Amino acid sequence: MDFQPAIASYLEKTGFPSFSPKAFLFDMDGVLYDSMPFHAKAWKEAFAHVGVQFSEYDVYLNEGRTGKTTVNEAFTAQFRREATDDEIQQIYADKAEIFMSISRTNPMPFAKEVLTALQAAGKKIVLVTGSGQKSLISRLNESYPGVFSPENMVTSFDVKYGKPNPEPYLMALQKAGVRPNEAVVIENAPLGVQAGVGAEIFTIALNTGILNDDVLSSAGANVVLPSMQTLYDHLSSLLR
Ligand code: CA
Repeated sequence: MDFQPAIASYLEKTGFPSFSPKAFLFDMDGVLYDSMPFHAKAWKEAFAHVGVQFSEYDVYLNEGRTGKTTVNEAFTAQFRREATDDEIQQIYADKAEIFMSISRTNPMPFAKEVLTALQAAGKKIVLVTGSGQKSLISRLNESYPGVFSPENMVTSFDVKYGKPNPEPYLMALQKAGVRPNEAVVIENAPLGVQAGVGAEIFTIALNTGILNDDVLSSAGANVVLPSMQTLYDHLSSLLR
C-alpha cells in the first residue's frame, strides 16, 4: 500500500503545495465502533413495522442523515409523499428502542492500536460524530482511555448542519489548530466522506460495512481501505 499516488492527486485537486498530517479526525460509528450492523437491523425492522421496505444496504448508504431525512427519503421513494411528523416520531422512536435492545459496545478491531500509534507520533486526534448521546464521552473513555475529552470532540451538539456539509470537519480543524492539508479524515460512510472532502481534507474511507467500494470512491474518498487493520498496517507510510 502506497499512499503517494493518492496524496499527489489530492494536492493536484486542492492546489495545496504540501501535505503534512498533524491531526487525525475520526468519525465514530463504523470507524471507532462496529455499531453499524445494529443500526442497519434496527432501521430495517422499524420501517418494516409500517410497511416500508428499507434494506440494510439502504441504511449504510444513508448513514449520517438525520432520522427525519431518512424517514422522508424512504417515504418519498415508496409512497411518493413525505412522512407526517407523527410517523417520523413513531418510526424513529421504534428504531431507537430496537437499537437499544440489540446493540452492544463493540470497539472496532485495531482502532485502539491506531490511536495509540498516532498519540506516540505526537499527532492530534479529534472525534467528529453526528451522534449526540449524552453517554458518549464515558463510553469513549472506557474503550479508548486517555484519548478523548470535550476539547477534541465535535458532536451533534456543536453543529448546525452536520454531514455531508463540511461544517463538522471545518470545526475539527479549528479545534486541532491545523489547516486542511495538515489533517486526515477517517470515515466509513459516503456522506461523511463528502463532508471530509468538502473541507478539502485528505479523506481515507474504511469500508467496514457492506457497501461497494465504488460508492465511497464516488463520494470523493482519496483512499478506500477494507479495514482499520489495513490502516494500522500501513500507518507508518502515511506518517513518513
Ligand atoms: Ca460513520
